[in-house]
Amino acid sequence: MEKIQNYIGGQLVVPLSGNYLDNYNPAEGKVYSLIPDSDESDVKNAIEAAKKAFPEWSSLSITERGKILNKVADLIDRDHEKLALAESNDNGKPLKLAKSVDIPRASANMRFYATAIQHFASEAHIPDDQYINYTTRKPVGVAGCISPWNLPLYLFTWKIAPALAAGNTVVAKPSEITPMTAYLFSKLCIEAGMPAGVLNIVHGLGSKAGQAIIEHPDVPLISFTGGTETGKRIAATAAPMFKKLSLELGGKNPNIVFADCDFEKVLATSVMSSFANQGQICLCGSRIFVERPIYDRFVKEFVEKVKKLNVGDPLEEGSKMGAVVSKSHMKKVLSYIELAKEEGGTVETGGNQIKLDGRCAEGYFITPTVITGLNHTCRTNQEEIFGPVVTIMPFDSEEEVIGFANSTAYGLAATIWTENLKRAHRVADAVKSGVIWVNCWLVRDLRTPFGGMKQSGVGREGGWEALRFFTEPKNICINTK
Ligand code: NAD
Repeated sequence: MEKIQNYIGGQLVVPLSGNYLDNYNPAEGKVYSLIPDSDESDVKNAIEAAKKAFPEWSSLSITERGKILNKVADLIDRDHEKLALAESNDNGKPLKLAKSVDIPRASANMRFYATAIQHFASEAHIPDDQYINYTTRKPVGVAGCISPWNLPLYLFTWKIAPALAAGNTVVAKPSEITPMTAYLFSKLCIEAGMPAGVLNIVHGLGSKAGQAIIEHPDVPLISFTGGTETGKRIAATAAPMFKKLSLELGGKNPNIVFADCDFEKVLATSVMSSFANQGQICLCGSRIFVERPIYDRFVKEFVEKVKKLNVGDPLEEGSKMGAVVSKSHMKKVLSYIELAKEEGGTVETGGNQIKLDGRCAEGYFITPTVITGLNHTCRTNQEEIFGPVVTIMPFDSEEEVIGFANSTAYGLAATIWTENLKRAHRVADAVKSGVIWVNCWLVRDLRTPFGGMKQSGVGREGGWEALRFFTEPKNICINTK
């Protein structure tokens, strides 16, 4: 059984305690590798290595830093098949999805920031008749980057690429549930000639290894993607040290369908936005609001389409949905379906675990589930489920649906379907959400800011926003007379 190792000071190393955790393949329900159960002593070594590497890395030219990031991107592309397979085995997602989205996006993240930093560096010179002001942006130091399990390498590179491009060194902790691609990535960094200590990857539990990164006074900035409750804990720990924080947290995203929409397009996209990656994308639309005149037709045709979604072995070409990420997550999702029934909901389709045959007999598979008959204030419609479960509710007016959409503690992403341009602008303006899609879903241009309002997060990443986060501005004012 493969033993994953930490990547510290340019070397693959075992955890100092010698302890390992089980890593499951969720499609098989079996342990298939072991992951370091790192503790604060491993984190301390990683931070020391990152501190040591910082002066040289931060003073390297952006072109030289970019070359290394680009080299890693090339190696990701070379190992595309291997990385996609690892992602699918670790996470349960369809291999096809890992091949078409996760892994290409990981190399794109590296390349984008290798180039973006070249343009970012020439920011803001403000002349005046007596004073010249200019603003430099310097890397901050050792960045802590903590990422979740749903898009493992995608979100890992989303953080470390801008951090490194901007000249910081990094201590990263991938999710303990999906460590494999970050481990393979550390090998690619060695092959690419990444200088020792520039990127350090410590594997292990959030409450132990993750917490040790947050608590350490020599990590002045933290970029975190994960659950809102974890985000609260991180913010509370970091606040007294005045750490710079970027928090990308949970969501309960509305998918708003007006009667004048392009019906067929909405149906097809809404099936995807509800169930892609088993509903485990923070941007999935988990509450569908449909204008009354088309509500019955929408429910009928949506349910028919969902019934045809093939849940199967993630490695098989025809599987549209794979396994959810873990046994405990499966139980959590199923318990929300029970709650929905207690709250008066009708399960239109799905609602249960499925047993597959062969190697997947013990896997964690749930049928795509559609629930109607709930009101927008119930727990099912207020709390993040993060699985293959959507609710559908009718609405009667624009004002009403804006109120429904804004009624949760979250504000990450919303989708609006209408052919009325004025309405599209009005509703997009009124919905409290960091990302709004009109007549599309999941278009993620790397140049655009990304993040959530309310309890969906603090700060923005993506494009210049990530480079701003990973640098400190310094204004220099010169008297020329
Ligand atoms: P999680 O909060 O349980 O864990 C995320 C990461 O934080 C993991 O690496 C974990 O080990 C670590 N962690 C846990 N406790 C920690 C602590 N006390 N200190 C430091 N690190 C700690 O989240 P998850 O279950 O891995 O991911 C699912 C959640 O992530 C969902 O809520 C989803 O909406 C959210 N998410 C948000 C976005 C976004 O961009 N807003 C993207 C993807 C996922």
